[in-house]
Amino acid sequence: MDREPQSLLSRQFTNRNTASAFWKLMHKVAVVAGATHVMFLGLFYGLGAHSLAWVNLGSVVLFATSYLCLKQRLNLLAVGLIVTEILAHAALAVRAIGWDSGFHYYLLVVVPVVVISRMKVRAFRPLLIGLLLAVYLGMDYNLRGLQPYDHISTEALTALRYFNIAVTVLLLTYLSNIYLQLVTKAEKDLRVLATTDPLTHLLNRRSLMEVAEYELVQRKRNHAPLAFVLADIDHFKGINDEFGHAAGDAVLTAVSVLLRQALREQDSVARWGGEEFLILMPNATLEMASTVAERLRQQIAAVEVPFEGKQIKVSMTFGVSCHHDDESIDEPVNRADTALYKGKLSGRNQVVAEVA
Ligand code: GH3
Ligand code: MG
Ligand code: MG
Repeated sequence: MDREPQSLLSRQFTNRNTASAFWKLMHKVAVVAGATHVMFLGLFYGLGAHSLAWVNLGSVVLFATSYLCLKQRLNLLAVGLIVTEILAHAALAVRAIGWDSGFHYYLLVVVPVVVISRMKVRAFRPLLIGLLLAVYLGMDYNLRGLQPYDHISTEALTALRYFNIAVTVLLLTYLSNIYLQLVTKAEKDLRVLATTDPLTHLLNRRSLMEVAEYELVQRKRNHAPLAFVLADIDHFKGINDEFGHAAGDAVLTAVSVLLRQALREQDSVARWGGEEFLILMPNATLEMASTVAERLRQQIAAVEVPFEGKQIKVSMTFGVSCHHDDESIDEPVNRADTALYKGKLSGRNQVVAEVA
């Protein structure tokens, strides 16, 4: 039933994360492009193409401005500046020193940037790609045959073309690689968000159910025991009422750390509800799980959670059950819940195992 809101939530998260990945990428584009143009500035000056050296100085200023715009979150203005620079620079360079200098190749770098951008109006993307193609073809048609203003040697021109082709390929590789890294990180964040509880960082209910389904399949094959322990903090409402909600959260966090540290690697712990935790113990019998639960109970009863100079005493009640052949997961969980309820009724701060 809660499938739809979940997927909606994760979709919004993905959009937000990949969108922020895109803007982080744009920051890098502004820095790398700015640095590349500082290099060009020196190169052109050295080659005697002085007018182009001035163009590059303008480019450096434009990239620095677009970087500042990105910092101020004037994102569209920044991208507008970057794209304008790439188009204007390519046009001016091929006009100044000739088509064979290969500066028009840099227009290709705009293609992946447009494709991966998160534009609200979808039609903008094909429109911009079409526009880019028109500019490229227009430049080819109008500028290819013209005599250059600045004359540089044929050898230098050839070397510059090869250099520009190599830099274009490197830029495309660099951009796609950074984007891949950013998206991979966003995916990882999303996975953590989808599988864990944000307050305690324990597994959430859904991912524990997935682990339990997996363990059930293992159990069918190897007939190893599988135990469930449901644990609930005693009089937690009282802690909230007396010390405040933030203190309640601190107790939940402290209890979670303690549970996780005290259990084996192969055991799974989830925040099952507000102040309720479910522990899944593969290869543990009812007796073994009850012993572990008793140890946990003692450890929790022995600690005091510090909060704003006060020490909060905590105790927990535990219900233990064991999976029987051909049962669904709900059945042992319900029996652990019944055992826990018995423990609450008979005074709390105790471990109760299901009646086997
Ligand atoms: P019992 O010993 O019978 O378990 O009593 P209890 O007070 O622990 O249980 P009850 O179910 O009456 O109250 C649980 C409280 O836990 C109520 C709810 O406001 C609080 N709670 C649930 N989630 C959170 C949370 O994330 N943070 C905090 N601080 N409190 C929470
Ligand atoms: Mg409780
Ligand atoms: Mg409860």
